[in-house]
Amino acid sequence: DPGSGSLLKVENIIVRFGGILALNSVSFDVRPGEICALIGPNGAGKSTLFNCLSRLYECDSGSITFNGHKLRSLRRHRIAEIGIGRTFQNLALFRSMTVRENVLMGCHSRHHAGFLRNAFRLPGAARIEAAARARADDLIDFLQLAEYAERVVADLPFGTQKRVELARALASDPQLLLLDEPACGLNHEELEGLGVLIRDIRDRLKVTVLLVEHHMGLVMSISDRVVALNFGKKIAEGTPAEVRMHPEVIRAYLGE
Ligand code: ADP
Ligand code: MG
Repeated sequence: DPGSGSLLKVENIIVRFGGILALNSVSFDVRPGEICALIGPNGAGKSTLFNCLSRLYECDSGSITFNGHKLRSLRRHRIAEIGIGRTFQNLALFRSMTVRENVLMGCHSRHHAGFLRNAFRLPGAARIEAAARARADDLIDFLQLAEYAERVVADLPFGTQKRVELARALASDPQLLLLDEPACGLNHEELEGLGVLIRDIRDRLKVTVLLVEHHMGLVMSISDRVVALNFGKKIAEGTPAEVRMHPEVIRAYLGE
């Protein structure tokens, strides 16, 4: 159904940690092709929601549907295979390996995908390896990492490591990319580049983006839609302008 419906549908998700209701019946949709931001003060439940989407946490109730798949009944390793990629706030990289090796690992996390199966008419493993190498090269260029490709990740500046993390997450050819605080730790110049990059990921790679982000300037400048959480509940949803002016959002950020 082109141009309509939702790619991701979150319905009445509840997550408890002991006495804490980390998510209290949260529902929202992510539509194909959009950049959607999830905001809220510390402890609002943003990371918990991301962890449910990537099957790191179990929900107590509710349903999550991605492209016809019921996420709650899928094993964790299937998440990349069905087309969800994610980055981690603290980076999920192999620090002693090179940039290229890290991106290649990401490519192999979805080796059942059509892009590798059909890419070349080579037999078996050689075909998959060649397709993975070609994809890694493309992503290294896309993220302007060519000059660092053979460098060990641990030796690179943090902002560059974050681009490697993006390349790793994109390597599995996701339809939906989950970004957990992509602006965190970046300097002013890197921040401007990040906004352009996230738009390029959507426009050129045709990847739908859901991001958790504290940097309001970035959220307001790149998002099509914003969902605001506070104390595990959705308090507002709409365009960046609508959500920024919403009384509950203002109250939540003033910490009343
Ligand atoms: P945010 O990412 O919006 O800052 P979190 O999702 O990390 O918020 O946390 C939401 C609430 O759930 C907080 O009260 C937090 O302490 C609690 N919480 C999150 N993860 C766990 C966990 N693994 N064990 C216990 N409590 C948790
Ligand atoms: Mg968090």
